[in-house]
Amino acid sequence: MAKYSNKINKIRTFALSLIFIGFIVMYGGIFFRKSPLLMTIFMVLGLLFIIASTVVYFWIGMLSTKTVQVRCPNCGKVTKILGRVDMCMYCNEPLTLDKSLEGQDFDEKYNKKQKTHKVQS
Ligand SMILES: [Zn+2]
Repeated sequence: MAKYSNKINKIRTFALSLIFIGFIVMYGGIFFRKSPLLMTIFMVLGLLFIIASTVVYFWIGMLSTKTVQVRCPNCGKVTKILGRVDMCMYCNEPLTLDKSLEGQDFDEKYNKKQKTHKVQS
């Protein structure tokens, strides 16, 4: 069940975990306070993780402009779709914008197939 989830949510979780990793690494630097060099390395590393998460959050903002808002037929809430197939943010109902895929089993491969097709044409 948890294999597929809404892409925007997935990236958001990733960005959030980067912040946590950053803070943990920075906190780890406290254990090396006897060595200013090691402590600096940990602090800089932790800062890099936090910067990376900021970049990812910025990326989500860019991606959000490409999403399509639809009303989920399953739970009735407005959710965002990214790509050809995506899951509902609230109930993980597979949703598609492509009529030819309607009723088929959800498969993230559909997104990749579309990319291959674009290269060919
Ligand atoms: Zn839903």
